Formats: sequence, C-alpha cells, structure tokens
Amino acid sequence: MGFFDSIRKFKNQLDQVESTVYSGKQSLLEVYEINAKLEAEIEARTRELDRANRQMLTLQHIWEMMNSSKPLSSVLNAIVNSLQGELGYMYSFIVKEKADNDGTYLQVVASSNNNLDAQFLEKFNCSVSDFRMNFPDIPELKKAVKNNQIYQSIDLNELVCGFIPELEKQKVDEFLKSARMKSYIMVPLMSKQTHFGSLLVFSSRESISGSELNFLSLFAKQIELAITIADLFEAVKAQAVTDGMTGLYNRRYFEEFIKKEAIRSNRQNQKFTVIGLDLDHLKQINDTYGHNYGDIAIKAIAEVLKNNARSIDVAARMGGEEFNIILPGVDSAGGCIAAERIRKAIEAVELEKIGHITASLGVATYLEHSDDIEELLEITDRAMYESKRNGRNRVTIARPAYETSWQEIAVNTFVDILTKHRIPVDEATSRLLTKKLNEMNINNEKLYQVADALVNTYNPEHIQGSVKKKVELAGLLAKRFDLSKDAIDRLKIAVLLYDIGNTMLPKEILRKSEPLTEDEKSYIKQHPVIAAREILKPISNIVDVIPIIEKHHENWNGTGYPSRLSGEAIPIESQIILIVDAYFALLEKRPYRDAMSKEDALKQIEQEINQKWSDKLAKEFIGIVKNDLS
Ligand code: GH3
Ligand code: MG
Repeated sequence: MGFFDSIRKFKNQLDQVESTVYSGKQSLLEVYEINAKLEAEIEARTRELDRANRQMLTLQHIWEMMNSSKPLSSVLNAIVNSLQGELGYMYSFIVKEKADNDGTYLQVVASSNNNLDAQFLEKFNCSVSDFRMNFPDIPELKKAVKNNQIYQSIDLNELVCGFIPELEKQKVDEFLKSARMKSYIMVPLMSKQTHFGSLLVFSSRESISGSELNFLSLFAKQIELAITIADLFEAVKAQAVTDGMTGLYNRRYFEEFIKKEAIRSNRQNQKFTVIGLDLDHLKQINDTYGHNYGDIAIKAIAEVLKNNARSIDVAARMGGEEFNIILPGVDSAGGCIAAERIRKAIEAVELEKIGHITASLGVATYLEHSDDIEELLEITDRAMYESKRNGRNRVTIARPAYETSWQEIAVNTFVDILTKHRIPVDEATSRLLTKKLNEMNINNEKLYQVADALVNTYNPEHIQGSVKKKVELAGLLAKRFDLSKDAIDRLKIAVLLYDIGNTMLPKEILRKSEPLTEDEKSYIKQHPVIAAREILKPISNIVDVIPIIEKHHENWNGTGYPSRLSGEAIPIESQIILIVDAYFALLEKRPYRDAMSKEDALKQIEQEINQKWSDKLAKEFIGIVKNDLS
C-alpha cells in the first residue's frame, strides 16, 4: 500500500470515528433531553402527590374530629381551621341562613382563627359581629347556591359590601388590599336534602383549578357529613333509654316507666315498691383516689343492681351517684328484703385501692305510703336521707308524708344545707351543728339552737332565742287567719329559713361601719332572696316553702321587693313573716340606731299600718305580743 492509500484509509477511519462521535453526541443529547423532561414530569407528579396527600390528611383530620363526639360547633370550627394555609387559603368560614321577624340574615357558625377580625376592627373601628350580615345580592352567586354549585369570583368588594352594606366601599377596598386576598369561593352546603348554609373561602390566588374544585366539593361533603352525624347523634341521644356510664336505665326512662307502672298498679290494685339508693362518701373517694375511682365505685353499684334485679325490675341511674329501683308487684315488706339484699351485696364488693363501699337506701311503696308518684319519690328520698343521718350503710322504710313533722323536715333541711356546704359556714361550725341535729330527738330545742347559730353567722346583734319566739308568734298569728295545719307547718319551716340567704352576703358589706352606698343597699335587699332560692331549690321536700320566702319583703302598699306585689296578692304566710321579722329587727341594735323597747317597736309597727302591712294583721300582731308581754 502506497503512502496515499494509507492517508485515504486513515481519513476514512477518521470520518467514521467522527460520524460515530457525532451520532453518539446526538443520542447523548437525546438522552439528556429525555432525562430533563422526565425529571420535570416527576417533579410535577410529586407536587401533585404531595398536594393530594395534604388534602387527604386534611380530610382524615376532619374524619377524626367527627368521631370524637365533640359538639358540632367545635367540629365545624376545627374543619374550617384545617383549611387555613391549605392551597393558599387565607380565611374561611361557614355561614347559615336564618330568618326572624326582621327578615333573613346570615349567621357565622364557624370561622378560622386568624387576625382578620383584628384587621377589620382596626380599619372600621367595629367588629364584624356588630353587624347583621345579609346574603349578598349577587345574582350569579344566588343562582350557584340555588343549583348547589361552587362559585368563584375576584370581586371581593361586591361580596363584602353585599354582606355589610353599611361599610364604605373605598375603605373596604383598602381593607381587602391590606389583607392580600385575591378571590373568594362560595361552596353551598346541604344537609338532609336542604340547603344548610355555605362555606366561604378567601384565597390568595385569582384562579381556581379543576382539582381544587374537586377538593373543595369533597371538603364540603365532609362538612355536610359532620352536620348529619351531629344531628343523628342528638336524635339518638334524645331517644336513649340507658345511662352511658353504667348501662342501667336513665332518668328519662325511669320517669316514663313509673308513670305507666302507677297506671297499671291502680288498674290492678297491685302495689309496687321504689328503692332509692345513694352511694356513701363518693366525694371522699373522688378526693382521695381521683374521679376515675369514683366512677369505678358508681359502676360497681350498677353491677350489683344488675345482678340483684329480677327481669321485671327496673334499675335506673338518676344522675351522679343516685339510683332508683322499681320493683313491680312488691309491697313494703318485700321491698325491705330486696333493699337489704342489695345493701349487703354492695358492702361485700371489694374494689382495688378503694376497698369496700357502702350505700344508703330508702324504701317506699305505692298504694301503701302514697298514691301520688311525686310524693312517693319524695318520701323515698327522705327515707334515704334518714339512712344517711343515722350513720349510712342502712335501709330505711318511708313513712307516709302526713306522719312527718315540720320539725323533722326542718332538721333534714338544715342537715342538707350544712353537709352539702350550700352556705359558707366554716367547716368546724358546720360539723358541730350537724352533729347536734343528728343527735336530736324531734321536737327538741336543739333545732332552734342550730337556727340561732346560723343567724349569728351574719347578724352578731341577733337576740339568742328569738328564732323560737318568731316561730311561736308566727304560729299564733296564722291561727287567727284560719290557716290549715299543713299551711302553719310550712310557715314554721319558712320562719326558720327565710333569712338563710343572708349567709351568702359578703362579710365586707355586713361589717361595714360607714353608710352603705345605694348599690350596696340594693344588693343587700335583693341578693338574699335570690340566694335563698338557690340554697333551698335542690331540697325537694320544701319546694312549697320557697314562694313564701321569696315574697316576704313585699309591702301591703306595693312598695316592697322584688315584685312590688300589694294587698292580698301577697301570700298571708309572707305577710306574717314580714311583720314578725320587722318586730324582732326593731328590738335589735343597729349601727345607725339603738335597740328599741318592745313598746316602741309596737308603736313603730302601728305607724306603718297600710304601708308595710294591713290593719288587720298589725292589730292581731300587736294584740298577741301585748298579751305575751303582760
Ligand atoms: P353522702 O354519703 O352523704 O352521700 O356523701 P357523698 O360524698 O357521696 O355525697 P355528696 O352529695 O356530698 O357528693 C357527691 C359527689 O359525687 C359530688 C360529685 O362531685 C360526685 N359525683 C357525682 N357524679 C359523679 C360521677 O359520675 N362520677 C364521679 N366520680 N363522681 C361523681
Ligand atoms: Mg352520696
């Protein structure tokens, strides 16, 4: 091969290499480009996945909230809050359309927490809630809501001014600008096939994508589900007949059952017995071991009741630590045996940490102790309390209502007030007085001593022994007005209790040496009457004493309080308390005057005839007291 041949060959080889290199470069370029494309696609897909993932998490969060049986309002608030920050959403709320006499308006039922309210306040010097919000008069928006479609618009000013027409357009523009919102989305919400309200979302972006629309409709579905579940939950709760904690029947069922049982009982002339049961010292269990252990004790009682009840018996948890059992067809003797069996079974239970628990029981029988359900339950309760007073862990059979003396009711009332700490008497005094009451024989003078001691806690000028005198005087007066024995008994209890509300007055006011302000005076007048009702209301067997007490500051001429009743509209029992109370107050020393003599006090009473009391009442009263003086 010649020299030129070699050169040609070499060049050919070079050409070949060059073309290989070139085509290699081409494919490399292609690979690079494909790679770049793929990468971009992967990135987009990842972003999409990420967004989908976050949407899923939001929806999952809502689902968890809904399962937590929180009230609807807090579920809805949490739902709108979970939208915050999603997909550039800045603020969202749920509105409900409402109507009243003045027409329709929008009520915000949930809103996301952010500082938009503060910004609004700063700009307009008032808050959104100061306005009655209208449904904006925007035809396309109304149409969308009507057709249950999502609506989006960038005309925020139109929306805000539509909500609150009172706002100045220019200021609204400035407000929107500073809030950096670009558009809003209104999503209609349906519940039970009707329009419930709307979800309103403010976005930092001007447009809305297809997948975002999907997300928001899914989101709205979740809200609708939450509303439906909450409604269902309410409906189910209202129909429930069992107590969630113990599985026993609840109060509602008990009350319906006992009514039916009484009807059956009357028709067949067959008795039934009620056992009332209250766990002893639950407060102590709660305080020592914690509320959970208190609950365990309550559940243990429920188990005993379930195990000891016949299939026709109805055991119900009335609330707290209070249970009632109805034993159809059982008389009082049988009822006592059943109650005693339950008591023993409870005593035998041994609980972790707490050890043994006990309960106090009362037994009363329909058509034996009473033929009135309310009265039957009242005397069951009274019998149960007697078990408590006599040392707990025992069964007491009820006595018919008419066999109970007024002193007994008064003693029970005082024990209740003192042991349940319904008034702020210090622990030692309370214990001492309770002990006195528990030891006393009915009709005992100790009842008056306890009442005197209670008056002393707010009135140091109180004359010892005056409570007894007041009761006696009121009783004598009542006879002059032909009151029945029942009414007189009620009056005597009222005399013991009418000032109990004074124990609730702040000590600073009671001990104040300088003159009281008008506010303080009116407080001192009104407050004790309100307090008395609050203290006495939970004590079932003195409910009919409360109205007497409430009206014992009404004057004959209508200048009294709280209701400015006059003349015969004031119950005679209340009139009697007013005059008896006034007389004894005049005998006591006051910061602004000395104690009066009996004669002067009676003169004062006479002067206020036809103002505070009637002529007849005053004359009768003066007559009785004068007789007493001589
Ligand atoms: P007594 O023997 O006089 O009945 O004393 P007690 O402590 O059981 O009665 P009291 O009525 O003074 O207190 C009852 C307490 O029971 C007050 C309340 O906080 C508590 N309690 C009520 N319901 C429940 C409940 O469902 N669980 C728990 N753990 N405690 C409850
Ligand atoms: Mg108890």
